[in-house]
Amino acid sequence: MSWLEQSWYRPYSLSLLLLPITGLFCSIVCLRRLAYQQGWLSSFVCNIPVIIVGNISVGGTGKTPVVIAIAQYLQSMGLKPAIISRGYGGKQPLQPIAVSSDSIASEVGDEALLLARRANCPVWIGRKRALVAQAVAQTTDCNIIVTDDGLQHYALARDIELAVIDAKRGHGNGFCLPAGPLREPISRLKQVDFVILNGTGAGLSNLTADTQINYQMAKVLNVKAGLNMKRNLNDWQGKTVHAVAGIGHPQRFFQLFAPYKIDIIHHSFPDHHLYSEKELDFGDEHDIIMTEKDAVKCQLFAKSNMYYLPITVQFDQNWQHKLATLVQSKWEQKMNKKLLDILVCPICQGKLEYDKKNQELICKADKLAFPIQEDAPVMLESEARHLSEAELV
Ligand code: ZN
Repeated sequence: MSWLEQSWYRPYSLSLLLLPITGLFCSIVCLRRLAYQQGWLSSFVCNIPVIIVGNISVGGTGKTPVVIAIAQYLQSMGLKPAIISRGYGGKQPLQPIAVSSDSIASEVGDEALLLARRANCPVWIGRKRALVAQAVAQTTDCNIIVTDDGLQHYALARDIELAVIDAKRGHGNGFCLPAGPLREPISRLKQVDFVILNGTGAGLSNLTADTQINYQMAKVLNVKAGLNMKRNLNDWQGKTVHAVAGIGHPQRFFQLFAPYKIDIIHHSFPDHHLYSEKELDFGDEHDIIMTEKDAVKCQLFAKSNMYYLPITVQFDQNWQHKLATLVQSKWEQKMNKKLLDILVCPICQGKLEYDKKNQELICKADKLAFPIQEDAPVMLESEARHLSEAELV
């Protein structure tokens, strides 16, 4: 972490000298958001529901395992999710592309590659999320989109917003960039559907989260052999290990070793770092344990002493139920709209308008209102109601 990033997490520091720029930054952020809300700037509205898993701060808050868990949960609901991501750490193509488990990390980015290997659903990347969502909706049979990050990417309209907050680091000093770590003011959290607190910690006192998650560690896997070689962290008890993390907040990874009495030598690298073989040659025979995101970039030169620690998260059942209910209702709304896009007036073949209150489909040209009975539109002239002149205004 740079000195500036570190200073965001201290109460009194030089970064506060940047407060005038923060004021300017906040005004731009607020204006931009207002512009999308007022329709001065247009958002792409996807015809399948879009769930954003994002955050309001810069740096890692541990979203990737959450994105994987959400996608898996949607699958368990019988939906077909696709994950979209910008492809950080890769070339971030302008044209959307599909990522597969044998894509190359330097091209598609380490997070997207990790998602493709773990989430068991299509993963697409591109610099503009709105274009990527459009490509997914048009070319795949997916019926819901989960976006990794992109809470501030308002060019893509969203149906559900989740904000993941790192409990230990919290909002730092609470200021927006560059005096603090925030991309939007803390008040933005009041507008998201769910706040997910990652871990426990002193970083936040006045934040009410909708749910809290803890990382769960699976078996340690060998980078070269993968699932064919599983071990327990306990195997390294009393031994020395090189712990390697090139993620937004490496401490979060190093802390996982604490309960195991393993003597670890820390090696922090920048987020999305592309490793060379030489960088991971520490000149001794100790085993190396890295994050899963690092492992996808080391496969080509991995030695037999390189391992990685996959992380999973599990949601609490009550919250999972709340998410399912919201997803269900958003999904129905979208499908109704999609249906309406296809439906035309049986008489003039013109476009219909949906009157939610009266549960009717209106053709203004023919002055008719077709009833919707038990969610099914009845498109028969004999069943339609004639509209009065007053109703047509
Ligand atoms: Zn008509």
